[in-house]
Amino acid sequence: MRIVVLLKAVPVVGNEKLVDGWRVDRSAGLEANGNDEYVLEAGLKLVEQHGGELVTLTMGPTPAMEAIRKALAMGAARAVHVQDPVLAGSDTLATGLVLAAALRKMEYDLVLAGADTSDGQGGIVGAAVATRLGLPYLSYAAHIEPDPSAETIRVRRISAAGYDVIEAPMPAFVAGTQLLGEPRYPSLRGIMQARSKEIATWTLADVGVEASSVGSSAALTEVDSATPPPPRAGATIVREAPEIAAERIVEFLASRRLV
Ligand SMILES: Cc1cc2nc3c(=O)[nH]c(=O)nc-3n(C[C@H](O)[C@H](O)[C@H](O)COP(=O)(O)OP(=O)(O)OC[C@H]3O[C@@H](n4cnc5c(N)ncnc54)[C@H](O)[C@@H]3O)c2cc1C
Repeated sequence: MRIVVLLKAVPVVGNEKLVDGWRVDRSAGLEANGNDEYVLEAGLKLVEQHGGELVTLTMGPTPAMEAIRKALAMGAARAVHVQDPVLAGSDTLATGLVLAAALRKMEYDLVLAGADTSDGQGGIVGAAVATRLGLPYLSYAAHIEPDPSAETIRVRRISAAGYDVIEAPMPAFVAGTQLLGEPRYPSLRGIMQARSKEIATWTLADVGVEASSVGSSAALTEVDSATPPPPRAGATIVREAPEIAAERIVEFLASRRLV
């Protein structure tokens, strides 16, 4: 199976910082988006079971390399990094356009993406890319089971009533959740091997997208302002023997009519 995982590099959770124009600072300290590590893990397991190759695809600035190297150390065979100064300020529409254009130059049976990201949280890039490529889109996946001989993919999908089982012909696009299973830690061997794996850097021209379609001037949305959440009120810590602590907690909850 040929699998491409869409891997976004995001600021380390908790260290997000806004710079000019309410932009998230991506000048340093990026890591792989948490959900993307879960789909990467699912993709690596599929390759271990069915053979083939897993390649990651990232659109992002130079510091995205940290996330890409981790994916290679976890087991991805190689990586594609779309990087171009004119991409700065791109919105979701442009991100979907560029990733779809890059995928047109790649070979795959399955494209995997996270359900959403920790910085943008749009939860829309996967659907946008699948729509542009005319691929079946299977979202909220908790389990992925391909049948390479029948060239179909079956996904257990989280639904309001529990789970749906849906099937589609491959090539297909699956957006996954953390129910796919914990990502592995890169082994020392994996880290060493990652150093010699290929990271192809593609510019916007390489993927055939016009500069006028990306960047802040092409963005259909504009961030007017951004405000950090108010600081949390101080926590109350109960340091008593268990039976007294239980009483205090019940009193506290009762005073707020929570029990
Ligand atoms: C006006 C505006 C200006 C912006 N300027 C910038 C900017 O200067 N720099 C910047 O980095 N962002 C910028 N953004 C944010 C950027 O547009 C979003 O981060 C991007 O569209 C992805 O959306 P998301 O994070 O909500 O992804 P989601 O839709 O939540 O992502 C779902 C999944 O899609 C995949 N995916 C998403 N993005 C990527 C990616 N880049 N590479 C590979 N896979 C991906 C991942 O698998 C992810 O789990 C801007 C947004 C707006 C509205």
